[in-house]
Amino acid sequence: MSADVILGAQWGDEGKGKIVDFYTEFADLVVRWGGGPNAGHTLVVGDEKVVVRLLPSGILREGTRCVIGQGMVLDLGVLFGEIDDLERRGRAGIAERLVVSHRAHVVLPYHVLVDTLREQSQGIGTTKKGIGPAYEDKVRRTGIRAGDLTDLGRVTKLVETALGHWAPFITAFGGTVPSVDSIVGPLEPLARRVVPLLADTSLLVSQAIRDGRRVLMEGAQGTLLDLDHGTYPYVTSSSPVSGGASVGAGVGPNRIDTVIGITKAYATRVGAGPFPTELEDSDGIHLREAGAEFGSVTGRPRRTGWLDLPALHYAGRVNGIDGLALTKLDVLTGLPRIRVCVAYETRSGRTSEFPIVELDRGEAVMPVYQELEGWTEALGNAKVLDDLPKAARAYVRFLEEGAGVPLFLVSVGPRRRETIVLHNPFVGRAAAP
Ligand code: GDP
Repeated sequence: MSADVILGAQWGDEGKGKIVDFYTEFADLVVRWGGGPNAGHTLVVGDEKVVVRLLPSGILREGTRCVIGQGMVLDLGVLFGEIDDLERRGRAGIAERLVVSHRAHVVLPYHVLVDTLREQSQGIGTTKKGIGPAYEDKVRRTGIRAGDLTDLGRVTKLVETALGHWAPFITAFGGTVPSVDSIVGPLEPLARRVVPLLADTSLLVSQAIRDGRRVLMEGAQGTLLDLDHGTYPYVTSSSPVSGGASVGAGVGPNRIDTVIGITKAYATRVGAGPFPTELEDSDGIHLREAGAEFGSVTGRPRRTGWLDLPALHYAGRVNGIDGLALTKLDVLTGLPRIRVCVAYETRSGRTSEFPIVELDRGEAVMPVYQELEGWTEALGNAKVLDDLPKAARAYVRFLEEGAGVPLFLVSVGPRRRETIVLHNPFVGRAAAP
């Protein structure tokens, strides 16, 4: 009776959408615990491509219930836009399978405004969706929660207070402070839609675990963007690490069983901040183009680089990763040689640890690379590891050994069928009657 966690082991965009969707075959309940519409998970079902920002990736499996946990921040316009879009595409009953925590905070237009104004001057590379300011309101105790929307009179007072805090900032940055009415008015129809979906999701998830339902907790962003463990201040405002799953879903850490970390076969990062294995040569362009590395929310080209084993170790440590899902191996096809960062040269010598202290101090660090042979064959049809070309197999085994955790799965294309399963921790777990 436990829940399992799937999370990003890098800077996000690891292909969590596909992997969570793959594992939801074995889940009754899929819970997202943090972040907001700054995440964008891309799912490919048959030939159809769907991007979800707020909805858990499990939403495309009929029969799977999805939960928006209390650690999330919600832009209700985005949420219902997503639901309406899926229903227009012929997927009925999305809202019926969705439960929203009454404690999840709401992203309002002034959060988006503040985010945009601040990005214009400070530019840490946020998605300008208002996520950071919404979490700031939460921490300042001036946030508005989904459960507050049952009483718009109360919301009006809360908006007044929050705007009082933001007004000097908005004015100083040359923006116009919105009126309370312009915020509360458009909330009315959204409140009417969200209120029937509200529940105490901590209770719901805990009961599901107790009843033996298979609960999958889905992360957003990635470990190195974590507010506490990432490359601060170039981080997100929530907690993408496994500990965040416990807090954001409202279940005890001892209810979490398997933690699966997702990593690409190379690395990418969106926005500013340290990225020691970044490439700015033709290999970097190959990774961006072959991997279609452009933000699913913003369309921004992603920075690309070689896989960083010390960073993967770090992710293994702070999350307690039990197994890895390796994605986008096929993107490396065509590179004559592939490099993997195996250690760092720092001011105090060579280390195989991720140099988080040095990066925090802004010190230069030099990746130490191991070079491996490339391959030219397409990988999409491989069903088992032995179907891969010898050099690809060697790369996979090298990563597994270097990461120090077993590989559970290798993804060789965006589709569900383009997946090599080495070990499935969920097979054999019976669903509760
Ligand atoms: P997420 O936020 O972690 O879900 O990452 P993205 O939304 O950026 O998804 C990664 C992109 O890669 C999506 O377009 C997926 O369809 C695609 N993708 C996932 N796995 C693979 C893979 O193994 N190979 C290739 N070529 N594409 C993949």
